[in-house]
Amino acid sequence: MSIAFPESDIDESEIEDQCVYVGSQTNVSPVSTSEVDLSAIKGAVRTILRAVGEDPDRDGLLETPRRVAKMYAEMFAGLHLDPGRHLDVTFAENYDEIVLVRDIEFTSMCEHHLLPFRGVAHVAYIPNGRVTGLSKLARVVEEVSRRPQVQERMTQTIADLIEQRLQSTAVGVIVKAEHSCMSIRGIRKPGSATVTSSMRGSFRTDPASRAELMSLIQQ
Ligand SMILES: [Zn+2]
Repeated sequence: MSIAFPESDIDESEIEDQCVYVGSQTNVSPVSTSEVDLSAIKGAVRTILRAVGEDPDRDGLLETPRRVAKMYAEMFAGLHLDPGRHLDVTFAENYDEIVLVRDIEFTSMCEHHLLPFRGVAHVAYIPNGRVTGLSKLARVVEEVSRRPQVQERMTQTIADLIEQRLQSTAVGVIVKAEHSCMSIRGIRKPGSATVTSSMRGSFRTDPASRAELMSLIQQ
């Protein structure tokens, strides 16, 4: 993840926060599986295996339902979390220029095919007197992606959360992803990228402000 942020504005607490992010991935995944009915998933996977003409009791497939159940619990962990909670702690700061965290990698599951789509999110906002920890923006992306999703809604949800919780004067979210449902099945176009964006406040209304954001993303 690369971060566009004036060096002088990164204080000790932020650096510590970044370290916490690196070391505490467990807060995001793997998740408490208690919210997910693992045995129901296992039964469903056995049913699917039988339905496609397999024998779920043959050696190689015996553990598959359990593995798939665990995987779904992880991929859909965000359903049981409020991603906005990461933005509840803010710091007063006299900084009213663009804050951008770009190239936040994510993997989500397309809700139409339950196949992964993967890519990066660029998340920007202009603070309104208060800033959030930079890693919190990455956490929001991570948790919003861990649900059955469509990329359009994912992009808007991230922008909504930042706009509402940080009361920012401008929010910009750009998501670029490759969808397995387009690359391995159906039209089979590997390498195609889908780009979605959600612009709020001056990023939406002021072409100069949006152009500045775009040039920071492309740097
Ligand atoms: Zn799909």
